[in-house]
Amino acid sequence: MFKKILYPTDFSDVAKKAFESIKALRSSGVREVVILHVIDSRFFEAVSWHPTKDFAQMEREIIEEISGEVESMRKELEDLGIKVKVRIETGIPFLKILNVEEEEKISAIVIGSHGVSNIEEMLMGSVSEKVIRKAKKPVLVVKR
Ligand code: ATP
Ligand code: MN
Repeated sequence: MFKKILYPTDFSDVAKKAFESIKALRSSGVREVVILHVIDSRFFEAVSWHPTKDFAQMEREIIEEISGEVESMRKELEDLGIKVKVRIETGIPFLKILNVEEEEKISAIVIGSHGVSNIEEMLMGSVSEKVIRKAKKPVLVVKR
């Protein structure tokens, strides 16, 4: 059931808590983890007034910024004997998460209930809600 896990992360505290659960699932048969971060393409629309507007450059800077954190997660999992694939995509986060679920033939998704916004009154975030609604495979939601 947990052979190939999709772990979407926005690098928030809740997503990091979800990462700890993946490590704990090692004994439940986790063999491979796909770490996925989606750079929200709406961010580029929001800054489209910006004079430089070099989105490819902005994308490279974001990837550079997150690479340290991604690589340390990769190492932690590899040290447990788990195979790791990292995917950095640009698009609408929930749609990319669902695309990757299909493409990578994932067996289960491990996601945080909340992310960077982490609004007190919200039962869960909009990304996790849409993923739970539309995913084909089981979703393990790690609460904040
Ligand atoms: P909202 O974004 O609706 O304001 P939020 O930030 O509190 O609320 P979500 O964005 O739904 O909550 O985050 C829930 C989980 O979804 C995160 O813990 C993470 O696992 C995943 N997630 C959110 N955004 C991304 C992203 N851009 N790329 C990959 N995974 C993401
Ligand atoms: Mn969010």
